[in-house]
Amino acid sequence: MSERYLLMIPGPIEFDPAVLRAMAITTPSHVAPDFIAVFGQALDDLRRVFLSQVGQPFVVAGSGTLAMDMAAANLIEPGDKALVINTGYFGDRFAAMLARYGAHVVEVKAPLGDVPPMDEVETALREGGFKVMIVTHVDTSTGVVTDVAALGRLARKHGALSVVDGVCATAGQEFRQDEWDIDVYLTASQKAVGVPPGLALLVASPRAIEVFETRRTPVGNYYADWANWLPIMEAYQARQPSYFGTPPVNLIYALAESLRQILAEGMEARFRRHRTISQAFKAALQALGLEQVPVRPDAAADTMSAVYYPDGVDAGLLGRIKENGVVVAGGLHPAIKTRYFRVGHMGAVTASDILATVGAVEKGLLALGYEMQAGVGLAAAQEVLANAD
Ligand code: PMP
Repeated sequence: MSERYLLMIPGPIEFDPAVLRAMAITTPSHVAPDFIAVFGQALDDLRRVFLSQVGQPFVVAGSGTLAMDMAAANLIEPGDKALVINTGYFGDRFAAMLARYGAHVVEVKAPLGDVPPMDEVETALREGGFKVMIVTHVDTSTGVVTDVAALGRLARKHGALSVVDGVCATAGQEFRQDEWDIDVYLTASQKAVGVPPGLALLVASPRAIEVFETRRTPVGNYYADWANWLPIMEAYQARQPSYFGTPPVNLIYALAESLRQILAEGMEARFRRHRTISQAFKAALQALGLEQVPVRPDAAADTMSAVYYPDGVDAGLLGRIKENGVVVAGGLHPAIKTRYFRVGHMGAVTASDILATVGAVEKGLLALGYEMQAGVGLAAAQEVLANAD
């Protein structure tokens, strides 16, 4: 059996060979001039990818959960009020984390596969006194995308900082940090940013940094404390050596290469490519008669798809798809875990990758006796791709 599979899960993703090669160097000192230049460039480029000129970037060894933890630990003090716009599994995680730091957490929960109505969010915010509002940009358990621009406006109107979990969105799903006035946008390296797992990435607005700097209590998490990391980031941005915790040197070389590639493609072109590939896949799903977890097309992310198994088909489909060379993910949301599967289409993903995935899904369904005409999904995907050219 071949060991060559196309990895189409919602992270980690397929990485570009040049990004992987960038890691495969003999590790220099974290204060070597070449590394300082590369880290400084990566920090500058991270801001460009987030479309922020004024934000403070942080790049720290850890996974996306650390990036969430950094936002929560540095912005929350015991007794603060936090509003969580909860669209699934990762909203639950954020709520638990905020509570751990002593926040009084209020949640606006969306029905499964949907976003909460804006008037419900506004009603909650009207209660007043919220220090932060948390939004998951794309919830990886449901494939639901939130309207971050509109939610950010509501948070601002009611005096709350906006914190957006972009782990399954950043560098794929449209996002404009300065224009949308979002205070913290955070992500991890292993999804649309296109770098193997191991980096927590975050950009904080001047307002968020000011809130942090005027805390009354020390940050309850030593490793995540911005007081430790801010001088380090500022030093590398100024192309100066610095040390708090040893940076993951090789991963930062990979990050610099991936960010370079992302900016060479251009953010607008990149958002469009993700939209097109997603629409091609979703058109294929529809042609095959498969239902998606997001209840409306405008609630569905560009970076991934969450798909119900059709009647008579179960998680055995995942193995069939893999037999055809493509790895997709099972369910994650506890309420429907065994009833659906997830496909990531982000980062270096190409039109050919998505066609290969549709082909493998079709073959898997046919092998399980699902009644369909071979090739209808492929034809629908091809049509979307052709019209986008
Ligand atoms: N938020 C979202 C939306 C995610 O998809 C994930 C990871 N799947 C996380 C947070 C947590 O990231 P990590 O697994 O890298 O800690």
